[in-house]
Amino acid sequence: MFDPASSTYTYLVADGGEAVLIDPVFEQVRRDAALIEELGLTLVATLETHVHADHVTGAWLLKQRLGSAIAVSRAGGAKGADRLLDDGDRISFGMRSFGVRATPGHTGGCVTYVLDGEEMAFTGDCLLIRGCGRTDFQDGDPAAMYRSVRERIFSLPDDCPLYPAHDYRGLTATSVAEERRYNPRLGGALSESDFSLTMNNLRLAHPKQIDVAVPANLKCGLMEGPIPMADPDWAPLTVNFAGIWEVEPQWVEENAHAVQIVDVREPVEFTGPLGHIRGAVLIPLGSLAARMGELAKDKPIVAVCKSGGRSAQAVNMLKQAGFDKLANLPGGMMRWRQEGLDAEGGE
Ligand code: FE
Repeated sequence: MFDPASSTYTYLVADGGEAVLIDPVFEQVRRDAALIEELGLTLVATLETHVHADHVTGAWLLKQRLGSAIAVSRAGGAKGADRLLDDGDRISFGMRSFGVRATPGHTGGCVTYVLDGEEMAFTGDCLLIRGCGRTDFQDGDPAAMYRSVRERIFSLPDDCPLYPAHDYRGLTATSVAEERRYNPRLGGALSESDFSLTMNNLRLAHPKQIDVAVPANLKCGLMEGPIPMADPDWAPLTVNFAGIWEVEPQWVEENAHAVQIVDVREPVEFTGPLGHIRGAVLIPLGSLAARMGELAKDKPIVAVCKSGGRSAQAVNMLKQAGFDKLANLPGGMMRWRQEGLDAEGGE
């Protein structure tokens, strides 16, 4: 999964119903939790490849929400973890496990996670696709990075896919053979002194987030006080991985007076066998763009259709138009009737 603000990849890896999440991003915890929930997985641990300087980890917040253990490299120096990882340690999930390989260089505490059969590896910012992480802060060390990549990553099988912590061009994976051959800094016949001279002359700007991200990540993303992107509180809402907020039918029945119920089906459906929710306003999806002005912006809107698909699109359209208290009714009128809730008309 991708975080556009920091170009960070977060990886969900699962076996037998158990999952680990590599390099979660604080602002994306809601999304990650929604996917884990939809897939019916138990998150056993979050794993950090290193103490990041460009985003705050979601490790602590995921632990609050899902009870996952926080695992970080001991050499990274972060406080508040449940497990401090050393080179050679293993993290199990289902019948599989990741081996921990110390690959310092970008930071002093960087690790690469290698799946048990060496079928894939997650290299963090040590080796990127046709690149590598910078080495000019957090105990960065070009000579150490050269050895990490050459001895501990290029020693994996040729066809082992490698997944980086970032990519700025939209690329998603590479392989050991590809990088060994084509990595412009570390591949081919390039020597350690070639590499060190390159790295010491990158002349990169100071990372924008470093003064916020590093102190927070040294506490595994612990947030004191209110969470900045708190969930909406006008109803007990949940969000799915598609990014649509949902509300339970039972709550809507009990709180119908407090919301605008917008039924986006066609008129024949509204008066058809499923009936409609008492007090619902009929605005067919095709007319919604033209008729949004009929809806109040300060009163929450619950969108409903036959089975929850068209109403999800209605929620998207209303959101784009600047409405912010919005929820979809998952399952629509079909589920509403199945649950025996109060309807007007119909059979
Ligand atoms: Fe990094």
